[in-house]
Amino acid sequence: MLPTPNFDLSPFNTLGLTAQARYGAQITFPDQVAELSAFAASVGLPLHIIGGGSNVVLHDMVEAVVGIMASKGRFAEQRDDGTTLVTAQAGEDWSEFVAWTIEQGHWGLENLAGIPGTVGAAPIQNIGAYGVELADRLDSLVVWDTVDKRERRFDRAECHFSYRQSAFKRAAGRFIVLNVTLALPSPWVPVLSYAGLDSLPPDVEAPAIMERVLSVRGSKLPNWRELGNVGSFFHNPIVHPALAEAIAGVPRYPQPDGSVKLSAAWLIDACGLKGHQEGGAGVYPNHALILVNNDGATYRDIQQLAATVRRSVKERFGVDLIQEPIEL
Ligand SMILES: Cc1cc2nc3c(=O)[nH]c(=O)nc-3n(C[C@H](O)[C@H](O)[C@H](O)COP(=O)(O)OP(=O)(O)OC[C@H]3O[C@@H](n4cnc5c(N)ncnc54)[C@H](O)[C@@H]3O)c2cc1C
Repeated sequence: MLPTPNFDLSPFNTLGLTAQARYGAQITFPDQVAELSAFAASVGLPLHIIGGGSNVVLHDMVEAVVGIMASKGRFAEQRDDGTTLVTAQAGEDWSEFVAWTIEQGHWGLENLAGIPGTVGAAPIQNIGAYGVELADRLDSLVVWDTVDKRERRFDRAECHFSYRQSAFKRAAGRFIVLNVTLALPSPWVPVLSYAGLDSLPPDVEAPAIMERVLSVRGSKLPNWRELGNVGSFFHNPIVHPALAEAIAGVPRYPQPDGSVKLSAAWLIDACGLKGHQEGGAGVYPNHALILVNNDGATYRDIQQLAATVRRSVKERFGVDLIQEPIEL
């Protein structure tokens, strides 16, 4: 595999930024990861992986060797205790993979339907939606360790998952996910606690939950193929209860450790920023947590807009917003 110099990354990010990598290549087989990692070391650049590019903000020139993860393959096996293990290669499309599991009668991922991106990226920020996180279903995964130069298997406990966090995100690029195995429990129990699903009947089945999730997502989120975006641009902040109490009207979600999670969208909206535009970038008028590429936005436009949002929320409420997508 010989990586291409000045590789065009524009088709590989859902924000629709125009960007290049110093070198880039598609990864279709897992063993190409080791090759690409060795190439990066030989040219003195870091190796970065992009899956669907739905959670990255790209510099105009990414000073790295970038591997586009496109390895395919998936299978299911039944354990003696009735649990189904489903395994997929890192380059599989997450949404298609979820739909496939449901079609095969393996239920448990329906609440996570419709999240853009690849299977390999799902553990990086412990994707979550509608009351379920990847951590609730993960059995194990296999990575290429770019430091020890070997494959390693992580079970769920070793992934150290928390809200939009994992051991892999904390290690910032050291581990490249090659495949992921999920454990779908038996008996299956629907998760209907989240707004939008709570009106479904208690005997509802997984395909109907998936349909509802897709329909609610479609009504709330802009389609990135039409309006570039990376979904939520900021984490919901987790703050001291006293700070939460001081902000009248903000939706509050108490956490097991006594802290309180706040709605970042509410805070941004309360600053009057819905629809606010800087350069080609804007705050989506229907959902304040989403920054969109309205018209040829650049990395700089997105960053200036994000800085305005962070500053406004800090000045008005004393809350620090943390950016969700990763800068490459
Ligand atoms: C419209 C929209 C809605 C969204 N909704 C949600 C949601 O409901 N919940 C949620 O959690 N997220 C959501 N997201 C964010 C995003 O879809 C997820 O974070 C997704 O897992 C990113 O996958 P990706 O393949 O596009 O990752 P990329 O954007 O390509 O990469 C993200 C990060 O993971 C790293 N990475 C990618 N693949 C690998 C790999 N194989 N090994 C190691 N590192 C890797 C990259 O280097 C980068 O640091 C949404 C995004 C959009 C655009």
